[in-house]
Amino acid sequence: MRNIEVNSLVTPIKEALIRVNIDINPSLLSKLKSTEKSETNPLSQEILKTLIDNAEIAESNRIPLCQDTGSAIFFIELGQEICLINGDLTTTINKAVAEAYSDGYLRKSIVTDPLFRRNNTLNNTPAIIHTEIVKGDKLTIHLMPKGAGSENMSRLFMLKPADGVKGLKNCVLETIVKAGGNPCPPLIVGIGVGGNFETTALLAKKALLRDLDDHHPEPMYSELEQSLLEEINCLNIGPMGLGGKTTALAVKIEYFPCHIASLPVAINLQCHSFRHATIVF
Ligand code: SF4
Repeated sequence: MRNIEVNSLVTPIKEALIRVNIDINPSLLSKLKSTEKSETNPLSQEILKTLIDNAEIAESNRIPLCQDTGSAIFFIELGQEICLINGDLTTTINKAVAEAYSDGYLRKSIVTDPLFRRNNTLNNTPAIIHTEIVKGDKLTIHLMPKGAGSENMSRLFMLKPADGVKGLKNCVLETIVKAGGNPCPPLIVGIGVGGNFETTALLAKKALLRDLDDHHPEPMYSELEQSLLEEINCLNIGPMGLGGKTTALAVKIEYFPCHIASLPVAINLQCHSFRHATIVF
């Protein structure tokens, strides 16, 4: 067994949360720059240029890329040969979130109760934590502050197996058309397919953790990602919903085996303020 002192996780998690809220992901910046060049609609070009300027201002002034600094979402891969000592992981992650949002002057956006007592918790906790036990002796922490604008336009469908690829494409395109400018396009579109009701939603979110420029390792899925991206970019929604051919920058699909009678599909939309990091201990 390998021991990890849970207290040693606080500072790296805190620093990563502050960093990703301020410094734009380099692949995203280069994607915005290349799409600005290829965009033909002058208004869309102007908006893309503004997003690039915004990222540069955030970096040089050390201020967040967006006022909505999000819910703090974590995907943990805990190696089964690790022993976490002198504390518990959930408390530690919440401590790191509270310190990051306070010391980094990030907006605190979490309320205590969704319906009756919408009081701000004042430290952006609790974090949303998904944990998976994996083999080995590493602890991998993927973190993703995610704003509400794009999350609110995300959807889940329970299709019939006969709906197939056409049914999935219709769900994705319908979701993006209905969302319009609300999720702050250009988007990264995370799609989960298979599993069951809750698995497919998690797959859609996990799909957003992939590198912006990667391709699905299986050609069928890689081709589906590409064809969906092309169809989405023909919808003329464009940057911030004001028209143009840059509605999405990437489509990422993750799948899981499912029941013979099911075809769950989830679409998790991610805005251009695409913030995530991975830390390995
Ligand atoms: S959707 Fe994204 S870019 Fe728009 S306000 Fe929310 S976090 Fe910011």
